[in-house]
Amino acid sequence: MLAYIGLGSNLQNPRAQIKNALNSLHHTDGIEVVDVSSLYESKPLLDMPGPNYINAVCKIDTSLSAIDLLDICQSIEDNQKRIREVKWGSRTIDLDILLYEQQVISSDRLSIPHPEMIDRAFVMVPLCEIDKEINVPLLGPVKSLMERINKLDVKKI
Ligand code: ATP
Ligand code: CA
Ligand code: CA
Repeated sequence: MLAYIGLGSNLQNPRAQIKNALNSLHHTDGIEVVDVSSLYESKPLLDMPGPNYINAVCKIDTSLSAIDLLDICQSIEDNQKRIREVKWGSRTIDLDILLYEQQVISSDRLSIPHPEMIDRAFVMVPLCEIDKEINVPLLGPVKSLMERINKLDVKKI
């Protein structure tokens, strides 16, 4: 199964946090990281306090189910000492499953496509960088969804 994961960090050496999470994904049985976008810098959502974020998107080939993939993502967050305080607060690492094949999933723990992805430049710009032709189920091709994105909200670094 092909899936796309969005990564973000704004604490404790964000570049190293992203690199570490990618490494952990790659070393997980049943996951092969097949592509990684450039790194991008973005401001916290909704003018939340805290340092700027470093973001990236990776493409994986996986034999795991979407829910097992979520468990892996959350265990990587725990390993990197993510502390959950306020919603959208600063964090060492965040791993969001953006797309899982062309599946639409809506459960207590998992919504795929990730519900906010199409409004977030820090997701859409790196996603488009690695796969211009991808389709977001129910919403359409990434290429046309990019028209609503302000590319100035992110800076490639
Ligand atoms: P946002 O989801 O708006 O980016 P966030 O990443 O800060 O916010 P978290 O605290 O990381 O939110 O996650 C809250 C819950 O979201 C998780 O416990 C998880 O069960 C759920 N969730 C639902 N859909 C997804 C998804 N596609 N990827 C990752 N987590 C998801
Ligand atoms: Ca997130
Ligand atoms: Ca998350």
